[in-house]
Amino acid sequence: MIIDIDRLPAEGLEISRDFEFFNSELVEEEAVFLQPVHTDFVIKRVGDEVLFKGNLTTKMSFICCRCLSPFELSINSGFDLVYLPEELDEEKEELAPEDLQKNFYTNQKINIRGIILEQLNLTFPVRPLCSEDCPGLCPVCGKNIRDEGCSCDLSQNDPRLNKLKTLLKDNR
Ligand SMILES: [Zn+2]
Ligand SMILES: [Zn+2]
Repeated sequence: MIIDIDRLPAEGLEISRDFEFFNSELVEEEAVFLQPVHTDFVIKRVGDEVLFKGNLTTKMSFICCRCLSPFELSINSGFDLVYLPEELDEEKEELAPEDLQKNFYTNQKINIRGIILEQLNLTFPVRPLCSEDCPGLCPVCGKNIRDEGCSCDLSQNDPRLNKLKTLLKDNR
């Protein structure tokens, strides 16, 4: 979906639509889409600037980095972006530090799909976890501790538990 900036109506465009992406386009290639990415946004031109504001929602399945099990994650993220014509950028000798944050469009066109993909990738967790306190895999038998349970004696292996035991003994 490419928007021609010169054809934007003065009051802007209000758009609501779904996008489908390939896994190979994601920063997290193991993530799987459980539904398309739905977006509602307004795109509006103010002078040379193009304002692009809206929200994206989807549901995805990630692999937990501790227990390696898939889990569902609902994504709901807003964005509020400003795009400037790239020509302005070239006229400058040097980019000011605040310009590095800026977004640019070329040839009076804005690739909406590309921006949505970029915004989606930004919402991904750096370390996907099925839950904050996921116990992960047993270091002895390799089973998923929460789902499969295991009867391994981990007390020997965890210095924190040993310390706790010592403390408990001392208090008796
Ligand atoms: Zn997990
Ligand atoms: Zn075990």
